[in-house]
Amino acid sequence: MDYFIWIFIIVIMMISQSFLSSSYQKYRKMPTLHQMRGCDAAKLILERNGIYDVSIVPSNRGTLSDYYDPTKKVVNLSSDIYYNSSIASVSVAAHEVGHALQHAEGYGFIALRNKMLPATQIASQLGWVSIFIGLISNIDFLLMFGIFALILIMLFQLVTLPIEFNASSRAIVQLKANGIIEDSEISSSKKMLRAAAFTYVAALITTVLNILRILLIRGSRNRD
Ligand SMILES: [Zn+2]
Repeated sequence: MDYFIWIFIIVIMMISQSFLSSSYQKYRKMPTLHQMRGCDAAKLILERNGIYDVSIVPSNRGTLSDYYDPTKKVVNLSSDIYYNSSIASVSVAAHEVGHALQHAEGYGFIALRNKMLPATQIASQLGWVSIFIGLISNIDFLLMFGIFALILIMLFQLVTLPIEFNASSRAIVQLKANGIIEDSEISSSKKMLRAAAFTYVAALITTVLNILRILLIRGSRNRD
């Protein structure tokens, strides 16, 4: 059973990664009718929403490393997204600006996630170490601590989902309302953002399965 879950985890991770990379490869080659670059689309959406204190910068972290940093109020876009005008570029840029809009508005789940962040960071540093040491040394307390750490990570990933879906739906609304994409391009844009969101769903499923796996290992040990 334990091995079965392990294989299932690997399969889910592989599916979500290949789904994202194949979607990205497809939509980065699909030009938009209005040919607006990702950075210009992002600037336009911010302006139209009356936000002037957020900057858009190109980052060199690599493919799809795009993120919004609320502490610095910076939208970081990977160079492919920043400089190009494909469906993928404007969609991902608008999604990251969607996070800036959420921040400006004080969107509820963001405040909750920020409160959970410090504990989750500790949990992700200590969780697996604690499980690993707990397993080899047979100390149940360490194993339980590790499982609670994974549960905390799972809750954090759960709170992240509505934030991601909301940023994507804001992106579609803004792309359309500001004339960055046409009606005929909406479904492509949605598909690109759905593939990106699926990685968050896959991460959550992976954590749930890992908790189950460790509980099963613990249960079979306690029986022995
Ligand atoms: Zn996002």
